[in-house]
Amino acid sequence: MTTSIDRPFQLAIPNKGRLRDPTLTLLRDAGLLFEMTERALSVPVRNVAIELLFVRTEDIPELVADRVADAGVTGVDLLAERANGLDTLLELGYGHCRLVAAVPTDAPEEKTDDFEGLRVATAHPNATAAYFAGRSINIDLVPLRGSVEVATKIGVADAIVDLVSTGSTLRVNGLRSVGTLLESQAILVSRPDHVSPLVNQLVTAFRAVIAGRRKRYLLLNAPMPAVEIIIGLIPGLEAPTIVPLAEDGWVAIHSVVDAEHLWELLPLLEAAGGKGILVLPIEQLLA
Ligand code: AMP
Repeated sequence: MTTSIDRPFQLAIPNKGRLRDPTLTLLRDAGLLFEMTERALSVPVRNVAIELLFVRTEDIPELVADRVADAGVTGVDLLAERANGLDTLLELGYGHCRLVAAVPTDAPEEKTDDFEGLRVATAHPNATAAYFAGRSINIDLVPLRGSVEVATKIGVADAIVDLVSTGSTLRVNGLRSVGTLLESQAILVSRPDHVSPLVNQLVTAFRAVIAGRRKRYLLLNAPMPAVEIIIGLIPGLEAPTIVPLAEDGWVAIHSVVDAEHLWELLPLLEAAGGKGILVLPIEQLLA
């Protein structure tokens, strides 16, 4: 068991790239106060005994495993690449992408089972090797650091394994996806033997922010005869709160609803007789 009593808790976060800005936003939304300076490697958090360590996203699993950092934010794909026994404490809900296998549009392969004997270029050699070994498919791995999507065009590989979010980069490069090796998003990781109240506090604070982002606080006024229909439309976390209004026969209904369903819910509420409908953001939510 390890605890960090001799130095502040070190939280490793991406210093650049796709995961940097959403991670900084998550930290701020969770209530951590800190000032960024352009090239600082570490920045103290003002209101909690945490130091932010700005490092490359791909190095974070290693730094946490080596005890340089107590916890870190990285991608599922990068953790899979290192496979170093870290715990995923929380999925953070951003940085969504997939590690996919792709072949040139006119190639015969239809699925990853057809890859026997192919040369496969990737910047994720360990995750790729583990995937094909797990299916007893022999491939000839071509590890690359970047520009994987041009590997088939320049003749160094027959297929590639690469990260995609929309798939448009594959299409632009004349490639067709034939299977997903793994789904990725940003995650908070730590060592299984690391015990610190701050780990639990971080998980709770992040969890509350992530849950809040998916929900909205809904308020509306309704005439009594419409209440039953309206509460059928918006069940709320437990049950909606109903408060009488000063005007006889009217109530205010408060509830927490899924953000993604609001666009279809609002016209239904209005049609059911709801008036003065308000939708407010929720900063944090622990259900
Ligand atoms: P970066 O530092 O910008 O190279 O991003 C590294 C990480 O961002 C990857 O390891 C993924 O976890 C994540 N990511 C999210 N979407 C994508 C994408 N479309 N392409 C590559 N990485 C992505």
